[in-house]
Amino acid sequence: MLRRLIPFSRLKAWYEGSPTWLKAAYAAVPFSLRMGRVYRHTQRLIEKTDFASREELDHMQAESLGRLIEHAYRHVPHYRQVMRQRGLGPNDIRCPADLAKMPLVSKSRMQLHIEQFAATGGLRERVFWDNTGGSSGTPFRFLALNSTYPVEMAYILAQWKRVGYSPRERRLTLRGRVVGAGHGEARWQYNPIYNELRASSYHIDADAIARLMPELKRFRPTFVYGYPSAVALFLRILDENHVEFPCRVKGVLCGSEPLFDYQRELIRRVLGCRAYSWYGQSERVLLAGECERTTAYHSFPLYGIAELVDDAGDPITTPGMEGEIVATSLHNLAMPFIRYRTGDRGVFDTNDTCICGRNHQRIKKVVGRTQDYVYTRAGRAVPVTAIVFGQHFRAFARMFAMQLAQDTPGEVTVRIVRGPEFTDADEKEIRDTMENAVDREIHVRVEYPKELSRTDSGKTPFVIQAIAKESLPPRSQ
Ligand SMILES: [Zn+2]
Repeated sequence: MLRRLIPFSRLKAWYEGSPTWLKAAYAAVPFSLRMGRVYRHTQRLIEKTDFASREELDHMQAESLGRLIEHAYRHVPHYRQVMRQRGLGPNDIRCPADLAKMPLVSKSRMQLHIEQFAATGGLRERVFWDNTGGSSGTPFRFLALNSTYPVEMAYILAQWKRVGYSPRERRLTLRGRVVGAGHGEARWQYNPIYNELRASSYHIDADAIARLMPELKRFRPTFVYGYPSAVALFLRILDENHVEFPCRVKGVLCGSEPLFDYQRELIRRVLGCRAYSWYGQSERVLLAGECERTTAYHSFPLYGIAELVDDAGDPITTPGMEGEIVATSLHNLAMPFIRYRTGDRGVFDTNDTCICGRNHQRIKKVVGRTQDYVYTRAGRAVPVTAIVFGQHFRAFARMFAMQLAQDTPGEVTVRIVRGPEFTDADEKEIRDTMENAVDREIHVRVEYPKELSRTDSGKTPFVIQAIAKESLPPRSQ
């Protein structure tokens, strides 16, 4: 009931601000009951369709797409205009292959004309404005149905189940969260709702790990969940200091950044378990996770439609070819994303049935999302995902792009391509949030270039890091 009246984001904020005893009381309610009706419905739908035949999935996906296109044509000004210009009616787009008749849409285009993308009617539930840090450096605000949270949660848990995870497992979480306020204070916190010990991914060094260790021995997490860069940093320090993880871990859940092979290896070597990775976006347009048998990303067919396009914007259908991931969300009618350019790059897999038995469309590999560190004055590495993308700055809605550059430990230059409404208060928010996240061990300077620096191949890296790791003091590397 509450969920229908109040946006999930606000419920979450209330929960975060409540005392531990209240959180624990809430956590005593079974997870699926807590998550509500939409969550349970989505869970049943996933169970029913996970191993459906290609024909069944095609049929269901076409039905979902038909509903989306019909809705977009009737209620979303941008899509109505585009379809009329192209002489298209809702009946012209009935299956994923027909999507090629529609143009691709970029984040910056949506940001410039955001009101044109919002549905003006046809919605039977509450909506809220969400915002994204945008791992490709182009952040923005978008409108979402209230149900996108429980839907997302049901899908995330369905894929984690493939490696044995359930909400009853204990997990150590290393994601972008500031825990503890000052030097010497505990950098971890127990969160009963997800049965997790959250440790600050901004403060991973040998001292912090030594202080955390007694707590880990008490809590005995069976899963580790985090940004690959944060988990890798944590394990590298354990390894270098010959410290063993205090208990057996069943799996490591790695999201928000691509997982590199060297990180998989490190996880297998240090923890003796599998790293499980998935691909999604803050915009919740597409979700694709590894299966029990392979590391290919299986795209949930009723969550969104995945396409890969080449540099000319044409669909890629050749296995092994790399291109940009383009996504059409099937569950957010508040602001339909149709052929949305994610800015992420992936490699096309075959269309055959996977050896796990699923008929999902697969992306063999996701490449080219940001995964970098900045260094504090003392030379401590801080994952950029934690200091920037985990933060959800309000200012993200008013800028076009952002890039970090560093050539001196403790000094970071933030380059921002400003939107017309960007203010001094936005600059202050960015500076203060980033500096406070690392106890002011980093000084942030903001610059406003017209364009961001590119590499020789034309890519715009999120971080231009000129500090060689070898030049840092040994304990921080
Ligand atoms: Zn599979």
